[in-house]
Amino acid sequence: MPQKSQPPKKLVLIGGGHSHAIVLRSHINNPLPNIHLSLISESSDTPYSGMLPGHIAGFYTRSECHINLQHLTNFAGAKFYINRVINLDLNNNRVICENLPPIDFDILSIDIGSIPATLTIPGAAEYAIAAKPVGKLLAEWEKLCNQIQEYQLPVHIGIVGGGAGGVELALAMQAKLHNQTGLEIHLFNRDRNLMPSYHPSVQRLMKKVLLKRKIKLHLGETVCKLEKQAEQVNKDKIKLTCESGLNLECDRSKAGTLYHRIFWVTEASAPQWLKTTGLTTDEKGFILVKNTLQSLSHSHIFASGDIATMVNHPRPKAGVFAVRQGKPLFNNLRRYILGETPQNYIPQPDYLSLIGTGDGKALANRGNFTLPPSRLLWFWKDWIDRKFMQQFQ
Ligand SMILES: Cc1cc2nc3c(=O)[nH]c(=O)nc-3n(C[C@H](O)[C@H](O)[C@H](O)COP(=O)(O)OP(=O)(O)OC[C@H]3O[C@@H](n4cnc5c(N)ncnc54)[C@H](O)[C@@H]3O)c2cc1C
Repeated sequence: MPQKSQPPKKLVLIGGGHSHAIVLRSHINNPLPNIHLSLISESSDTPYSGMLPGHIAGFYTRSECHINLQHLTNFAGAKFYINRVINLDLNNNRVICENLPPIDFDILSIDIGSIPATLTIPGAAEYAIAAKPVGKLLAEWEKLCNQIQEYQLPVHIGIVGGGAGGVELALAMQAKLHNQTGLEIHLFNRDRNLMPSYHPSVQRLMKKVLLKRKIKLHLGETVCKLEKQAEQVNKDKIKLTCESGLNLECDRSKAGTLYHRIFWVTEASAPQWLKTTGLTTDEKGFILVKNTLQSLSHSHIFASGDIATMVNHPRPKAGVFAVRQGKPLFNNLRRYILGETPQNYIPQPDYLSLIGTGDGKALANRGNFTLPPSRLLWFWKDWIDRKFMQQFQ
C-alpha cells in the first residue's frame, strides 16, 4: 500500500474512447487510490460506435449514442481538458497539446482510436469526408440531410472502403434517404470481397443486402484520385477516379444541380505524431502493448482500443475490443499505482458481431456461425447497446 505521506500520482488519460469511458465510470464506483486524474480529449462527448450507424439511419438521437465526457469527468472528480494532443515528451513525462501548456504525468493511458488510412491520395484530404473524427462526419451528414430536405434535389454519395464501417454507413445512409428521388450510393472497395476480415457467409449475406437496396458496388476498385472539376456553374463538382480508369462524377445534365459527397471509411490507421514519440509501434504506427496493456517500451504508459495492438493477441480494430479492454485496463492501472504486478488480459479469439442493416434488422455472426438479417436480432442489438449506454447516464 502507498504511504499516506506519498504525494498523489498524476494519471493522465488521453482520448475519451470506449476503454477510458469505462475507466472513468469504474473510478466513480471504486476510486483509484492516491491519484490526480485528468482526461484530455478533443470534444466534450464521444460516440459509442455500436450505435453510430443507427444514428445515421435515424434510429437514435445524437445524445443517445454519445457518452458525455464532461459529466463523466465531473462525477469522477477528474480534470477535463478539451484539447487535441499533438505529441509526447517522454524524457520529461509531458503531454503536448495543441492549445495548452504541457501537462505532466506519472502514469499515462492512451485511447485515441484511429483514423481512416490512405487519406493521403491526391484530393482525399480536401474533398472527402473522413469517417473520423466522428464529430465532423456527423456535422457533414446533418448538413447534407438538411440541404436535401430543403431543396429536394437528387444526391450521389460515394463511400470509399468496404469494411464493416463502410458497409454499415452505406446501408444506414440508404435507409435514411431511401425516399429521395435520384439517390445513388456507390461503394468502392479495393478487395473483391466486402468486409474482408469477416466470415465468407457474412460477406455473401451483406453483398445480397446491399444489392437489394440498390447500392452500386465497385469491388476490386482502388480509388486513386479526387479532383475538383473546372466547371463554371457547378463549382462544387468532384470527380473520383479509380486505378482501373473507372470514375464517378455528378451528372448535371439531368437535374441542373445535385448534391454529392464522398465519405472515406478505409481501414484504420494511426496518427503521424505517434511515430516520433519514442513509443514502440508496429509498422502501421499502432502502439505495441503487452498482455497487461502496458507499452512494450514504456511500462508507465498504457494503451487500449484501436490505437493499441496487442503484440501477442492482435485483434481487428473494432469498438467491441475497446469496450472489453476497459475493465482490465482499470484493474491494471490500480495495480500499477499500488506497486503490484499488472495482470495479463487475453481477449477472446472470436466474438459475437451484431451488424445492423439500417432497416431495423441486424445479422449475427460468431466464428463460423451466421444468422441472416432479422428484426429479432436488431431488437437484441438495440437492447445490448442501450444497456451499455445506460451505465453512463
Ligand atoms: C462508420 C463507422 C461505423 C462503425 N461501426 C462499428 C460498429 O458497429 N461496431 C464496432 O465495434 N465498431 C464499429 N466501428 C469501429 C469503431 O468506431 C472503433 O473501433 C472504435 O470507435 C474504437 O474505439 P476507441 O476507444 O479505440 O476510440 P474512439 O471511439 O475512436 O475514441 C477515441 C477518442 O479519442 C479522442 N481523440 C482522438 N485523437 C485525439 C487526440 N489527438 N487528442 C485528444 N483526443 C483525441 C476522440 O475525440 C475520441 O473521443 C465503426 C467505425 C466507423 C468509422
